[in-house]
Amino acid sequence: MKDTPKHQGLRNQLFKKIRRKGIKSEAVLKAMAKVPRHVFMDSALESHAYEDKPFPIAAEQTISQPYTVAYQTELLHVKPKDKILEIGTGSGYQTAVLIEMGAYVYTVERQHELFKLAKLFLPKLGYKPKKIRFGDGYIGWAEHAPYDGILVTAGAPFVPKALLSQLKIGGRLVIPVGESYQIMTVFTRTGEKEFSKKEYGEFRFVPLLRDKE
Ligand code: SAH
Repeated sequence: MKDTPKHQGLRNQLFKKIRRKGIKSEAVLKAMAKVPRHVFMDSALESHAYEDKPFPIAAEQTISQPYTVAYQTELLHVKPKDKILEIGTGSGYQTAVLIEMGAYVYTVERQHELFKLAKLFLPKLGYKPKKIRFGDGYIGWAEHAPYDGILVTAGAPFVPKALLSQLKIGGRLVIPVGESYQIMTVFTRTGEKEFSKKEYGEFRFVPLLRDKE
């Protein structure tokens, strides 16, 4: 799918809207203005790609709402060259936004179909994650830890300890916590065993699946 001036125009309108909704980080807005969201979606939905809504992707999952992507990315405080672990690759859209911001991204997806698609598709678009893995996000990815930031893009019924332990000191975990709805929560590692916690707004994500589900 091509990226045309029409897409660019719709994207600019969407980002003005997201800014009005309260996203302040220019780095986030700039990255999102560049990534062509429509190519991450089913071609039948292309004309809706620049609406501020989530849409279905394969394996009964969703591509997150652009405002949610912006909100989570802003909370992550990404800087160029940061090492970021993303849990829930899904369509790869959020992965591309992080790469566009100059981050080195490690991303984990629990559904094989989505993993396979993203692994082929992201490099084709020029968005190459450092590493992409088919696996369970509850255990993070210890081999490449510690991370400057960890971003969970599915609703977690509880905060996995492994994710906290894989943060650098000063690193941030952005995670929506809850079952039927989630509270966006940020943990900052302030010391070897100390973390600070801050809660933000209410969101609705697809669930972070557990091994036997
Ligand atoms: N970042 C994605 C959001 C996809 S929705 C995007 O922008 O498209 C959440 C994703 O988390 C889904 O792809 C789902 O399959 C994945 N997921 C669910 N449970 C998981 C787990 N335990 N480990 C890793 N990924 C998981």
